[in-house]
Amino acid sequence: MASKNFGLDIWGENNFFIDNNTININYGNKPSLLQLTTQIRDKGHRGPLIFRFPHILKKQIKNLFDEFNQARLGLDYKSPFRAVFPLKVNQLPNFVNSITEVSKEYNYGLEAGSKAELIIAMSHTRLGEPITINGFKDKALISLCFIAGSMGHNITIIIEGINELNTILGVSREFKLFTPKIGMRIRLHSSGIGIWAKSGGYSSKFGLSATELLEAYDILKANNLLDKFYMIHFHIGSQMGQISPLKKALREAGNIYAQLHKMGATSLGAINIGGGLAVEYSQHSNIRDRNYSIREFANDVVFSMCEIAKSNSVAQPEIFIESGRFVASAHSVLIAPVLELFSQEYNQKALRLKKQNPPLVQELYELFSSMTKEVAREYLHDGLDHLESLLTLFDLGYIDIIDRSNSEILVDLIIKKAISLLKDENIEELRILEDKIDEKYLVNFSLFQSLPDYWGLKQNFPIVPLSHLDIVPTRSATICDITCDSDGEIPYNREIPLNLHDIDLSKEEYFLGFFLIGAYQEILGMKHNLFTHPTEIVVEFDDNGDYKFSNIIESQNLMDILEDIEYERSKIDKSLKNNIDNIKDLNDIEKDKLLGKLYLYLSQNGYLRAY
Ligand SMILES: *Cc1c(COP(=O)(O)O)cnc(C)c1O
Repeated sequence: MASKNFGLDIWGENNFFIDNNTININYGNKPSLLQLTTQIRDKGHRGPLIFRFPHILKKQIKNLFDEFNQARLGLDYKSPFRAVFPLKVNQLPNFVNSITEVSKEYNYGLEAGSKAELIIAMSHTRLGEPITINGFKDKALISLCFIAGSMGHNITIIIEGINELNTILGVSREFKLFTPKIGMRIRLHSSGIGIWAKSGGYSSKFGLSATELLEAYDILKANNLLDKFYMIHFHIGSQMGQISPLKKALREAGNIYAQLHKMGATSLGAINIGGGLAVEYSQHSNIRDRNYSIREFANDVVFSMCEIAKSNSVAQPEIFIESGRFVASAHSVLIAPVLELFSQEYNQKALRLKKQNPPLVQELYELFSSMTKEVAREYLHDGLDHLESLLTLFDLGYIDIIDRSNSEILVDLIIKKAISLLKDENIEELRILEDKIDEKYLVNFSLFQSLPDYWGLKQNFPIVPLSHLDIVPTRSATICDITCDSDGEIPYNREIPLNLHDIDLSKEEYFLGFFLIGAYQEILGMKHNLFTHPTEIVVEFDDNGDYKFSNIIESQNLMDILEDIEYERSKIDKSLKNNIDNIKDLNDIEKDKLLGKLYLYLSQNGYLRAY
C-alpha cells in the first residue's frame, strides 16, 4: 500500500506539508527540508544532521496551556494549571535553551530527576518558575534543593519513600532558614497500558503506599512541617496509549488528596499528574498509538479534579503536569543521506548474456521478456524453479559465474515484473516475495545513536524521503545503518510497510527524514562503534518568516570521541607520529605530507563522508 504522503496526515500535526516533490516546514516562508539540508551541506557538514525547530516547541507548549486553560474555563475551575518540562526527556543545551526561551510567557518550569539535572534546572529557570524533583534522593541532592530554595527558586521535593522524608528533616535542621515544599509520589494500585507502563502500578519501584502516606503525614505533623506538604504526585508511565488508566489514576490520586486534606494537611494544594501524554507516531491508518486527543485528556483531568473537590468539599487542587514526550518529540528531525541501494546491481543493464547461454538461462530471459499479466504467476513459478536448478548446476560445475549472475538478475527482474503486473490482486505469495526482494537502503547514521527506542523497544518513527514526493514509491524498503551490528536495521514490515523510491545514486542524492525524534532519543543514544551525536542545527524564523541557522554544533571529531572515553590524546598522538617517523621509505617532506593528511582525518567526525 504505497502512498505518496507517508502518513503525514496521521502523525504530522500540520508541522510539515508536501509541496510538489518536497516536504516543507509549515511555518514562516515554508522552506523545504531539502533546502535546509543542502545549505548546511554546502557549508561542509557531512553525515547525519539534526534540525531543531523552536517554533514547534513553542506550539506544543502553547497547545498544552491553551487546552488546559480552555478546560478550566469551561468548568469554571478556579485553581491554576502549571507545567514543568521533565529534563530526562532531553537535557541537551540547545534544546533546554530553546525551551526556556520560547516558554517565557507561561511560567513554565523544569523537572529534575538527578543532581546534574537539578543543576540545569537551578541555572536555567527564572526565579518563580516551578521546579519539581523526582527520583531517588540522597542527602546531597536534598541539600541542593534547599540551596535552590534559598536562592529563591520555587522548588518542590517529591519524595519516593519515608527515608527521603527523614533526610529532609535532617537537612532542614541544618539549613534553619528555609525548607522547600514537599510532595509525595503515590504508588497507584491502577497501572498504565503500553510498553512503558512499568513506572506506575502496585509493583512499581516508585512511590508511597497508603500506609506510608499516613506515616509520612504523622512525621510531618510531629515535626511541624505540615505547612510544607504541598503536592500529591503520580506518573503512570510514558506514551499512555489509552485514556482509561489516566481516569482511574485521577480518581485514586484525587481521593488521596481529599482525604489527607480533610485529615489536616491544609497546605496540600496541588496534584501533579506526571507525564504519559502520548504522541502519534504511526504512518498507517490501520494502527494508532493513542486513542484520545489532548483536548479529551485535558477535559478529563480538569473534570475529575473538579468532581473530587466538590464531592469532598475541599479546595480545588492546582493541576501540575510533567509532559515531556508530547512537548519535545516533534521539535527535531534527523536527516541522513542514503549511501547505497543494495540491489541496484539487479538491473537489466548488468546482464552479461553470452552468444550461447545455457538453455535455462535463455528460458529465464524469455520468461522475463514475454511476461504479461495473464501468465505472470505461472512464469514467476517457472522462474523460481529454474533458479533452484541453475544454482545446483553451478555447485556441480556445469555453469560458470557469469551464468549464475545472469540467473540471479533475471529472476529478480521476473519477481519485480510479476509484482508490478499483479499489484492489484492481493496475492499472499507475492507479498511474501515482496518481503524477500525488499531493497536495502544503506543510510549514513547509527540506529543505536539516533533511534535507540527502535533498537530497545521497537518504537517506530515516521520516515519520509526529502524529495521525489510527487512519485509513488514502489520499493519495499529495509533501512540499514552504518554500524557493523546486524541489529542496526529497520527491516521491511508488511504490517506497516515502508516504500521508498528507486534512485540511481550515481546521478542524484536521496535523503531520509526521521521525524518525532526530539524526546528521549538524543540522550538515550549510545556510541556503538563510536558513532556520536550527529551535527545539530537550530533553525529560527524571524518576524518576516525568514529563517536562520544558529548554534550549529558539529558532530565530535575522531580525537574528541576518543578523549571522551578517556583515551589520552597525547599518547595516541605520539604513537601515530612515531609510526610515521619510522616509515623507512619516506623522506621528511613526504612524512610531513602524510602527517598532514592524518590530522585532517582526525579533525573530522566519524560518519561516512562519501555523501
Ligand atoms: C519520564 C517522566 C515524565 C515524562 O513522561 P512523558 O511520557 O515523556 O510525558 C514525567 N514525570 C516523571 C516523574 C517521569 O519519570
